[in-house]
Amino acid sequence: MSEPRNECLFCRMVAGEIPPDVVRETDRTLAFRDINPQAPTHVLVIPKEHHATLGALAGADPELTAELVAAAHAVAVQEGLVTADAPEPGYRVVANTGPQAGQTVHHVHLHVLGGRGLGWPPG
Ligand code: 5GP
Ligand code: ZN
Repeated sequence: MSEPRNECLFCRMVAGEIPPDVVRETDRTLAFRDINPQAPTHVLVIPKEHHATLGALAGADPELTAELVAAAHAVAVQEGLVTADAPEPGYRVVANTGPQAGQTVHHVHLHVLGGRGLGWPPG
């Protein structure tokens, strides 16, 4: 169990100090709308425990890592980006990791993006 960090924006959201626009919550995960959306749907999915990166989370807690991925998919279903039967219209999950990928918040989070055509490769 990783301790919450006072200086961490997402830990402060989990603690209720900064209220996010929550779209889905489980015992161990929280999903909320990105403040600067890059697509009609742009939701961030986080573990409530503090882990800085995807690799740190995967090393510490593989079960929670799997739960985070499942939570991202559940958000996509809830947002109408896919149905139970078909991966349409579709969505993207992104985990920016480290400076070259542009990670700015050092509490692991999955971006769930959809609602428009998404170019590939990303810039
Ligand atoms: P990163 O660049 O680390 O992959 O993603 C961090 C994300 O957090 C960015 O998309 C940014 O818009 C979002 N973000 C930064 N500050 C806030 C905030 O105060 N509230 C919300 N909801 N999102 C934030
Ligand atoms: Zn944190």
